[in-house]
Amino acid sequence: MAQEYHYLWKWDLTSTPEALWPLVSDTNRFNRDTGLPSMQLLGVNNRVKRVKFKIPIVNVEWDEEPFEWTYPHRFGILRRYRTGPLLEMRVDCRLERLEPSGTRIEYEVWVKPRNILGDIAIPFGIGIFSAKKFADAFKMYDRIASRPEPVLFIATGRKLSTPGHTRFKLLNDRLKEQGADTATLSHLYDFVHRADDLSIQRMRPYALADGWGTSRRTVLETFLKGTRAGMLDMYWDLLCPECRGVAEDRRSLADLHGRSHCNTCQIDFDVNFDHNVEVIFRPNPAVREVDAGIEFCVGSPQRQPHIVFSLVVPPHEQLPLSTVLLEGRYRLSASSLDGSQMLTAFKDGPDHMDFRADKLGWSREILKIGLSPHIRLINDTDFTQTFQMERVTWSDQAATAADVTTLQVFRDLFSSEVLRAGEEISVSSITLMFTDLRNSTRLYREVGDASAFGRVREHFEILEKAVAAEGGSIVKTMGDAVMAAFRKPVSGLSAIWNVQKELSARGAPPLTIKVGIHHGPCIVVNMNDRLDYFGSTVNIAARLPNFSHGGEAVFSEAIRYDPEVIEFLERNAVPNSVSRFQGEIRGYDTPMDLWRARM
Ligand SMILES: [Zn+2]
Repeated sequence: MAQEYHYLWKWDLTSTPEALWPLVSDTNRFNRDTGLPSMQLLGVNNRVKRVKFKIPIVNVEWDEEPFEWTYPHRFGILRRYRTGPLLEMRVDCRLERLEPSGTRIEYEVWVKPRNILGDIAIPFGIGIFSAKKFADAFKMYDRIASRPEPVLFIATGRKLSTPGHTRFKLLNDRLKEQGADTATLSHLYDFVHRADDLSIQRMRPYALADGWGTSRRTVLETFLKGTRAGMLDMYWDLLCPECRGVAEDRRSLADLHGRSHCNTCQIDFDVNFDHNVEVIFRPNPAVREVDAGIEFCVGSPQRQPHIVFSLVVPPHEQLPLSTVLLEGRYRLSASSLDGSQMLTAFKDGPDHMDFRADKLGWSREILKIGLSPHIRLINDTDFTQTFQMERVTWSDQAATAADVTTLQVFRDLFSSEVLRAGEEISVSSITLMFTDLRNSTRLYREVGDASAFGRVREHFEILEKAVAAEGGSIVKTMGDAVMAAFRKPVSGLSAIWNVQKELSARGAPPLTIKVGIHHGPCIVVNMNDRLDYFGSTVNIAARLPNFSHGGEAVFSEAIRYDPEVIEFLERNAVPNSVSRFQGEIRGYDTPMDLWRARM
């Protein structure tokens, strides 16, 4: 039988394992940086991926087991080749913490050749060529990881062609004239000009804003303006709730369906505007060509950065590990067991923990765990178990479809971006505000049609401006009434407070406005070629202005007890001007607890 080749390389680096992990375990980037050709996923069967190199003439195809890893210390992979000069390759990469600081990387490879070609290729290709490339890549990652600023992109030379450069500058000047944020535009130029192809495949406005130290909304709005101008392209990524990978990548809202499918996990899932539709951007090809589909590794740990460890434990065996957690919620599961174990990680939590997979299943209580725990995974079942621990919270750096579609800038610039007729997509929380003018008939009678109409139109302008300033948007107007949507309750309240202030300052007779605000789940639909909201949250919100006597906001309990609203009312409401009452709402059997606040 053919000989097995074994290599072990060690490098001492200056950065910590935590800082190196996002780069070192990003095998997609690593394979690219070390000169491997791009590859193509052919299919997934029972979590094993069939992959091939995208190179002409030579057909190298293999089956790839899922990666195993433990943040921030170790990852490994096994490939069984079906064609080509190799039979099997196993990789184990370890990041050991050095005292007082630094990391020792140990990279170990076992390779079995299939034939004489493999026997020739391995010592040269891996033993000499890869060893040099690996050393260079790890040293580059060490330099990047040791910088104090967050890693937003990796630069590999200038990326804009001369025509691309000219086009960017032209659009940049036009956007500046239109009042787009200049600081964001200059960051954007730097990014588009220098970021390598992998960094620019998915430009995430909130993550970039955090890194640039600017406002998330400003960056998102600038990107929307840039898209309208032809500098960027916007995509709606549907994220799988299991693996959180991109299940679909859509150019338009009209291509979205209420149900989607993840190929990797082989599951169908419900699409939800504020959970799993993320808006991302890429340069428009006229500015810079980006090959968004190019892949150098199909299963890297960095594709699932929320998973702390993913480890296989054979029946009746156990596995020790140590990891690093952030404060917050985690979930542990084992592949052949139902349910999961919930955990809360905090500073003084226990340092040692056993997790046992057996017939008893998981405990219902939320277990406490420390931030640098030593864990033992014990498999007391007759089946192989893949243990996974994942951080429960979704990245709050995702600009969701709910965020984008409630922005007035989006409605103004992309009025034709709507769902397909008949498609319904749920959004689990949205704040809806309905306003109406009080006694507008009397106003028309008292000051005359022309003058009254002027005042009413002015009130629409004030409303529109105040709503947009709080990150909301006007969904529609109906006579003197307006429906607006916001991401957060406090934004609605703050907007209407400013409207009232403006209206009172505009002279006699003052227009008085009746307002109702409610918060809850909805469905988003296309109604008369615009995005609209439906459901009982909308029905309730629409009735609330009826309870207002004018000059006051009426809102539900869901609004009243929102922490930001509590704080807002403490700061802005006149003492003793917030009171509870009960209101009958048509279609509901029992009266509802409601609140009114004088503005
Ligand atoms: Zn999935």
